[in-house]
Amino acid sequence: MTYALTPPPQAHLDISGTDELFPVRRIYCIGKNYTAHIIEMNADERDPPVIFMKPADAIVKNGGEIPYPVFTNNFHFECELVVALKSGGYNIPVAEASDHIYGYAVGLDMTRRDHQAEALEKGLPWEVTKGFDHSAPVGPITRASDSGVLTMGHVRLKVNGQVRQDADISLMIWKVDEIISKLSEQHRLMAGDIIMTGTPAGVGAVVTGDVLDCSMDGVEPMQVRIGPKAG
Ligand code: MN
Repeated sequence: MTYALTPPPQAHLDISGTDELFPVRRIYCIGKNYTAHIIEMNADERDPPVIFMKPADAIVKNGGEIPYPVFTNNFHFECELVVALKSGGYNIPVAEASDHIYGYAVGLDMTRRDHQAEALEKGLPWEVTKGFDHSAPVGPITRASDSGVLTMGHVRLKVNGQVRQDADISLMIWKVDEIISKLSEQHRLMAGDIIMTGTPAGVGAVVTGDVLDCSMDGVEPMQVRIGPKAG
């Protein structure tokens, strides 16, 4: 059997310290996961994590350019810790979740903020605001066998050299092992899945020419730049 059309290339990420590539199956994303104020106000009353997805071919690798997207005038960054899975399943217990982690990266959950506001207001789906072309820049993966399991450390974003986001991942409302467990209640997680774990405060808009530096203690950093308008 042959394909009628040339199959699309396999989405992938680089892996720090090796020439091997990490094949990406799905990109899961977690929303509203860093509000220190919500922790103070609702210590034992957590809402379930907000879950959405991006297409795997939205990945932009380290050093790449993100064309300023069509169909927005308010293009926002959200710098996030990304977790890459080497295995999965349904109903993964929290205590076993870290056994499924292949490694970590930093990424950007790029967002058409103007359309997110509209989607929230009208109860519309989120693909237009979160799942568009080039909306998932992700840096090289640092293997958990090198970094250990990460439960603290600062995730940071600089735009044109200025710090815009900086928070410790210990401030996550849903921790990484809880995110994996909760996701697996709804989806059968698999090797090759990556998870954007939510952004801390400080999100903002970018324009053509901006340079974005994402970093996380113990994880290979990523730099991308915003290019001319797409299309
Ligand atoms: Mn996000």
